[in-house]
Amino acid sequence: MDDGFPRSRAVALDAEDPMAGFRDHFLTQGEPGFIYLDGNSLGRLPAAVPAFLDQVVRDGWGRGLVRSWETWIGWSRSLGDRLAAHLLGAHQGEVVLSDSTSVNLYKLAAAALDAAPPERRTIVIDGEDFPTNRYIMQGLAEQRGLRLVTLRSDIDQGLYPRVLRAALNQDVALVVLSLVSYRCGALLDMAAVNQAVGDAGAFMLWDLCHAAGAVPIELHATGAQLAVGCTYKYLNGGPGSPAFLYVRKDLQPRLRQPIWGWFGQRGQFLMGPSYEPVDEVDRFLVGTPPVLSLAAVAPALDVIERAGISRLRQKAIRLGGVVVELADRWLSPYGFRLASPRDPTRRGSHVSFEHPEAWRICQALSAEAGVVCDFRVPDRLRIAPVPLYTSFTEVWDAMDRLRDIMASRGYQRQSAALARVT
Ligand SMILES: *Cc1c(COP(=O)(O)O)cnc(C)c1O
Repeated sequence: MDDGFPRSRAVALDAEDPMAGFRDHFLTQGEPGFIYLDGNSLGRLPAAVPAFLDQVVRDGWGRGLVRSWETWIGWSRSLGDRLAAHLLGAHQGEVVLSDSTSVNLYKLAAAALDAAPPERRTIVIDGEDFPTNRYIMQGLAEQRGLRLVTLRSDIDQGLYPRVLRAALNQDVALVVLSLVSYRCGALLDMAAVNQAVGDAGAFMLWDLCHAAGAVPIELHATGAQLAVGCTYKYLNGGPGSPAFLYVRKDLQPRLRQPIWGWFGQRGQFLMGPSYEPVDEVDRFLVGTPPVLSLAAVAPALDVIERAGISRLRQKAIRLGGVVVELADRWLSPYGFRLASPRDPTRRGSHVSFEHPEAWRICQALSAEAGVVCDFRVPDRLRIAPVPLYTSFTEVWDAMDRLRDIMASRGYQRQSAALARVT
């Protein structure tokens, strides 16, 4: 049954897809029929990573030992410069890899709060933002006796600009928002938000976790001040790969982070008596980076740089369009409702659907149909085709298997109890 969208149409889209060859840069062999639609949680393994890690382990660690630090010490910065140039629209010397997104959120938010005029006593967050973002700002507000304003954004459409504007006033020191919503995928207008928050005299801190590698980002052109993001989602850096942080050049000497570690210190190996951070972006580093995890980011960036973010975005929009079109045709009769903006230019790369049985459907897809996507509370199924390695035919097949599970009610065999990790 094809209902006006035959599989052959998806096959034809793949045949004329200029990005189709990039799939070969990922390890996907030995998985007949398996379809991965969860690259917004953990990106696939780039094919060049195992050999490169083997080399770093054997030559760098095994043979070079401590002498290899001469090379390793520069990686946080050189990888940051690559991200800045190819994916973030930032200048050299404005981005470094370090710590986790959570820790970087804390560091940059605390630095901004310290630099804000003392009479400004409010932090503004989005009530639908990823939990760690909300918790870290709750903690900072409590530790410093500040007011926390939680914006009410639409669970399916994201934050409306008027809601943000209404919250901006002379008391606001800092606004923290995600460019792409983790749940519904809504994409904010970075330039408009930077303008509004800047006009109000507050600091703006962006979370780019679901945006970096998925949508073109122009930190400089839009006047962005501060940003953080992870490298294990669309950047394919591997589980727990270090996050990045961006601080606009002119702000770097003015901002001091709260964790005074030796990797931010002027003349680090002079082992001086007291903390005196360098003027550059390295002042936002803390301690020894996880070198093996950092190493894996390099081959991952090789692939994404060759593909180019604007071509990736074009394909992502078309992949998302197929997901939405097939869901409209095949899944709405089973009670699925689109829980993301319908306009593809207002979305990142993933699409969410609401269904009361979303959790059991998600499990059945994985256990019985070889399709991995994910579930998000309260009742959302997130489907994330990734233009680097997802084909149109895979999207068609995944949606077809999903339709079968609904028709056969196969999901009813799954447990309703949530797993530890969803
Ligand atoms: C994935 C994600 C994080 C992850 O933070 P970690 O510190 O890496 O666990 C943070 N914020 C957002 C918006 C995310 O999507």
